[in-house]
Amino acid sequence: MGIIVSKFGGSSTASASHLKRIERLVRASAARRCVVLSAPGIDGDHPEKVTAMLERCWDLRKCPAACESAVSAVVRRFDDICRGLDIPDMTQLAHRTIDRALSVSLPHTLSRGEYLCALVFARYTGLPMVDAADLIAFGSDGALGEDATHRNIRRLKDIEGPVIVPGFYGADPVGRIRILPRNGSDISGALIAAGLDADLYENWSDVPGLMTADPAIVPNARLIPHIGYRQMRALARAGAQVLHPACLDPVAMAGIPTRLRDTAHPDSFGTLIDERCERMIPCVAGQPDAYLPDGRPAAKVTVFGLPGDQVLDAAATLAPLGSIAGKDQTVIYFDQKQYKEALCHLHRELIEARLHK
Ligand code: ASP
Repeated sequence: MGIIVSKFGGSSTASASHLKRIERLVRASAARRCVVLSAPGIDGDHPEKVTAMLERCWDLRKCPAACESAVSAVVRRFDDICRGLDIPDMTQLAHRTIDRALSVSLPHTLSRGEYLCALVFARYTGLPMVDAADLIAFGSDGALGEDATHRNIRRLKDIEGPVIVPGFYGADPVGRIRILPRNGSDISGALIAAGLDADLYENWSDVPGLMTADPAIVPNARLIPHIGYRQMRALARAGAQVLHPACLDPVAMAGIPTRLRDTAHPDSFGTLIDERCERMIPCVAGQPDAYLPDGRPAAKVTVFGLPGDQVLDAAATLAPLGSIAGKDQTVIYFDQKQYKEALCHLHRELIEARLHK
């Protein structure tokens, strides 16, 4: 049986009902051997990510009363989750954990959202939790120690049952907590998938997968079912927000396919990112709040990569692509071999447009 590493983003861990859904998904396949969790994020009832709430605790640490009420808000969020899961609350533990982190460092404080979320989920499911501080190894200079991380992760193979791991952080040689970039649980999941030599890295969130444009802006945006790593990397760097760009290297280098999946619609295919998907596919670059210099919203720009080695009958080949893009899209075509340059160019335009806005 293969190994699947499943990472769930903050939108999928936002509340007790979300965590119950994760449990069902984890139990549905024995191949899901490692579950990587983000801190509870935003949903209809919670306008703020736990990580942002923890950041506020840190900012207020010199004002005891305000800080205390900010910490209590985080603790209440975890209490609500425990109540919804019907497990004993962790009020004291959560308070102590955050108070201690506040006396140590900002990274330590920010990491406690993932830590407490994994702890709650492990208590609810009875599954073993492994602290990311014992897995993701940083050097004393703060750089990720890939060899040590790899060695630590391999030990997970000996643990029975799906293992729960908090995303986003690790520790340096003296045990100080260090964090990955923001939204970095994607990177934790990818490192673990590579370290376990997994057959698949699943990245679960509240979106259907990679779309041809931001569906909040472009209603007729389409799902892209397959895409190659090189293209996904360029798109992630150009602003596509489905995955952290830095998570692609570990899995691409290990030849592990990544699948973007929607927690609310687990039967949907999502998007498969794989080297074998390097073929003619539509790509989109765009950030919801960015505009091109001529005022066109960037999210309405669809960029199609075409295989450069193919002799194109332009009219016949481009017509079906145009219909994928949708009527209100500005379509830019380029030779796939130069897609990086084309996207870089577009990205530069986006940055300039932002600066001049
Ligand atoms: N919770 C962290 C953040 O908000 C990491 C993550 O969600 O991946 O950046």
